[in-house]
Amino acid sequence: MKSKIALLAIIAAVVGAFFYFDLGAYLTLEGFKSRQAALSAAVDANPLRAALIFFAVYVAVAATSFPGAAILTLVGGAIFGFWTGLLLVSFASSVGATLAFLSARFLLRDFVQGKFGDRLKPINEGVDKDGAFYLFALRLVPLFPFFVVNLLMGLTTIRTWPFYWVSQLGMLAGTAVYVNAGTQLAQLDSLKGILSPAILGSFVLLGIFPILAKRVLDWLKGRKVYANWAHLKPKSFDRNLVVIGAGSAGLVTSYIAAAVKAKVTLIEKHKMGGDCLNTGCVPSKALIKSAKLLSHMQRAEEFGLKRATAEWDFADVMQRVQRVVTEVEPHDSIERYTQLGVECLTGSAKIVSPWAVEFTAADGSQQTLTTKNIVIASGARPFVPPIPGLDSVDYLTSDTVWNLRELPKRLVVLGGGPIGSELTQCFARFGAKVSQVEMLPRILIREDPEVSEIVTQSLRRDGVAVLTGHKAKQVLVESGEKILVCEHAGAEVRLPFDQILVAVGRTANVTGFGLEELGIPVRQNKTIETNDYLQTIFPNIFACGDVAGPYQFTHTASHQAWYAAVNALFGRFKKFRADYRVIPWATFTDPEVARVGLSETEAKEKNIAHEVTVYGIDDLDRAIADGEPHGFVKVITAKGKDTILGATIVGEHASDILVEYVTAMKYGLGLNKILGTIHTYPTMGEANKYAAGVWKRNHQPVRLLEWVRKFHAWERG
Ligand SMILES: Cc1cc2nc3c(=O)[nH]c(=O)nc-3n(C[C@H](O)[C@H](O)[C@H](O)COP(=O)(O)OP(=O)(O)OC[C@H]3O[C@@H](n4cnc5c(N)ncnc54)[C@H](O)[C@@H]3O)c2cc1C
Repeated sequence: MKSKIALLAIIAAVVGAFFYFDLGAYLTLEGFKSRQAALSAAVDANPLRAALIFFAVYVAVAATSFPGAAILTLVGGAIFGFWTGLLLVSFASSVGATLAFLSARFLLRDFVQGKFGDRLKPINEGVDKDGAFYLFALRLVPLFPFFVVNLLMGLTTIRTWPFYWVSQLGMLAGTAVYVNAGTQLAQLDSLKGILSPAILGSFVLLGIFPILAKRVLDWLKGRKVYANWAHLKPKSFDRNLVVIGAGSAGLVTSYIAAAVKAKVTLIEKHKMGGDCLNTGCVPSKALIKSAKLLSHMQRAEEFGLKRATAEWDFADVMQRVQRVVTEVEPHDSIERYTQLGVECLTGSAKIVSPWAVEFTAADGSQQTLTTKNIVIASGARPFVPPIPGLDSVDYLTSDTVWNLRELPKRLVVLGGGPIGSELTQCFARFGAKVSQVEMLPRILIREDPEVSEIVTQSLRRDGVAVLTGHKAKQVLVESGEKILVCEHAGAEVRLPFDQILVAVGRTANVTGFGLEELGIPVRQNKTIETNDYLQTIFPNIFACGDVAGPYQFTHTASHQAWYAAVNALFGRFKKFRADYRVIPWATFTDPEVARVGLSETEAKEKNIAHEVTVYGIDDLDRAIADGEPHGFVKVITAKGKDTILGATIVGEHASDILVEYVTAMKYGLGLNKILGTIHTYPTMGEANKYAAGVWKRNHQPVRLLEWVRKFHAWERG
């Protein structure tokens, strides 16, 4: 602490001296011009002394992050000439920058990383991954001011020596351009001189330098990454785009490419439509519908019916699920996409160079497709944890569960996420005795605790044993009986079962089709590493959907697909950063859980000044009429404003009701606007208006209303 105070005192002393000696006067162009003759005379009289003083002042300005380093650089060129000026400025700016860097690190790093770690994440990641090159790029392309880079870098993990030399090297070209401009400035003694070609040339160079530097950087990066492949680059390409995988991401990518008249080939090795159509959203929602109908029938009395009985066979239910898939299939079919102008190939794809994809058809025949760009949309598959003994039982996953035709009597569902919870409830409603096993303290861990609690209670009412805090350790088969052994609070819990469904997450498909050979890196969570434009390390190879993350939803896959397609086809003119500011999602349990933006827990964790407004759906006319008076709308707003930061809805049709908040957040509409919108009566959507009403009541203009009350009293006489 003492040393921190001492350092602050030194900085304060330098700042004080700066003002005391009115050094600021030298840090404007006019100030310098008026003293130019005197300064040049001082340099002529004693060049070494002048150089040392200039060096010291420059270091002090840079170290204390005073604005003015750019002017000092021009001054350096003006009074010392190009080479001496460059030498002095190059070393002084690097030494000063390093001192600023060290001060920031010493004084602030722990505090800032603790408080803003999240927001510094992109910089930290850039530094961890490619520290020196990242800093070099920041230095070469002056996107951030000199002093900001010094201070920010001090807060990261980069070491001091690389910071020093990379800074000096990275700034050299820019310094030269500025010092050169300074030498021209020295010759400027009348306004007419400003139009001289040399001066104009110097300043044009200043302006276009960042663009040139960016180009050089891109070229350098490109050369590095394509170096081993350049000899395989064809002179011309058969296609503009090859898309690998015909799930939501791949379908939308190729749809957009065909719509803008690109030549695009879509390769799918399994079924058009990918997971969502065949084993994900569509079958799960179809199953949920049948299960819900059954649950409503069991509640017949609540609705004034004496009794409602259902005769059913699980095989028929699963058959209906398949019928639904078949009905939706034409939307994603080869016929439809061929008509749209997409060449659809059935077989597997392997990337063999940055511009070539090897296609293998079912009959083993192969062809190599050359292409200007590639979009990887290979999706994800169920993650199966390495639990001893699991392989010895015929476990189910979300890929295989749809083949069941007989309802398991005792089912264990491993996983308390959205997929696990939706399927748990379905099977329980059909009459299976379901145990849901979750390692964490609650299910639906991404949502607020009370959301998890409501869904847990609902599952329990359906007869599910919700076992949180249970870690699956082993699967045993004893005398033909299958048993899952869990650890719970230090004790062993044994769960006998007939079938076990593994739903503990999904892992991206990143192996076996060329990524390893090309050296395309994957993140820690095994999704493909991309930049904000969805480019992999090869700027012409993109990834989107589940394989790229960070979300694993159909709507985010198709959202990303737009960016992948447009950036691939038109990126040389304009690239777009994938925008994740407003991402909604839903869990289709009963009650449904829907969310967009921040939850209350996240707002707290991120220290965001916020307010929470809750409206209970038990009060809503339509919910009461429908016999579903439960759940809530919770809105997170910025403190003191009606700006919506997030919304969570739990209840009947929550996923549909949420859309109003999604639109509001996307277009910057606040709760006042929602309150001022007519909502049809009686609908579940009115819950949003009432939530806005709660917020409004909490922000009543109390003083004004007191005056209005007095006004009414006065009017009454
Ligand atoms: C049970 C369940 C329920 C779900 N419910 C919802 C929901 O309600 N809402 C929601 O938004 N999301 C839901 N999801 C998630 C959703 O299904 C996925 O996010 C979505 O399918 C991702 O699309 P994708 O195109 O990235 O990948 P996928 O749909 O997985 O498509 C990838 C395709 O690439 C193909 N492929 C892979 N490698 C190759 C290769 N080398 N050559 C050729 N082809 C290849 C695969 O065969 C696959 O067809 C659910 C998922 C599951 C499992």
